[in-house]
Amino acid sequence: MVALDGPSGTGKSTVSKKLAAALGATYLDTGAMYRAVTLAVLRAGVDPADAAEVVRVARAVELSMGTDPLAPAVQLDGAEVEGAIRGPEVTGAVSAVSAVPEVRELLVALQRELIARAMSEPGGMVVEGRDIGTVVVPDAGLKVYLTASADARAARRTAQDVSDGRDGDLRRTHADVQRRDALDSGRKVAPLRQADDAVELDSTDLDIAGVLEQLTKLVES
Ligand code: C5P
Repeated sequence: MVALDGPSGTGKSTVSKKLAAALGATYLDTGAMYRAVTLAVLRAGVDPADAAEVVRVARAVELSMGTDPLAPAVQLDGAEVEGAIRGPEVTGAVSAVSAVPEVRELLVALQRELIARAMSEPGGMVVEGRDIGTVVVPDAGLKVYLTASADARAARRTAQDVSDGRDGDLRRTHADVQRRDALDSGRKVAPLRQADDAVELDSTDLDIAGVLEQLTKLVES
């Protein structure tokens, strides 16, 4: 199993999916799970800062994750939400929701179930997130911590927004990336940090193909 962690905007999702497809492995986007719960919280009219209400919503929703790297799918109560979870409202609220310990407990349990099921079949799995190598699967076969400079990360997120048909605003995205990383690194439970035995890969000066090449080498080594 490959665990790929790191802050936002490093190109983690893109390279994780490509790596999984190249390896014939399945793929799990754990960020999509926190985003889906956040979408449910917002749709229920609940304040993301109200932890008790956030937990109530998280316990009530039914989350279903597709694991095909070529067709990422997230279902909330039976409806596809892959597009809806990427919007600015969810992005703005997800760090508050993911800092709630009971939400993490629920989602980590679900992640471990999905990973165990995938690992019982041939092909392996690429799992991306913030705490995969530190908390979810500390004994993963390969752990990679993907980083990039804050400027590079903001530029990539903005380009991704534009290509997905959303507004691309570099300054706002820069501020958002920094705010989210500070919240994700500063939270009490499972803060974003590099696992002691993870390999750090700095993608600031690499394009997607370059990152993929480095990752493939690490998988093969
Ligand atoms: O990867 P993505 O940017 O979609 O993740 C959205 C948010 O979900 C992160 O900013 C973080 O707050 C949370 N997250 C997390 N643990 C993970 C994956 C994501 O806390 N394993």
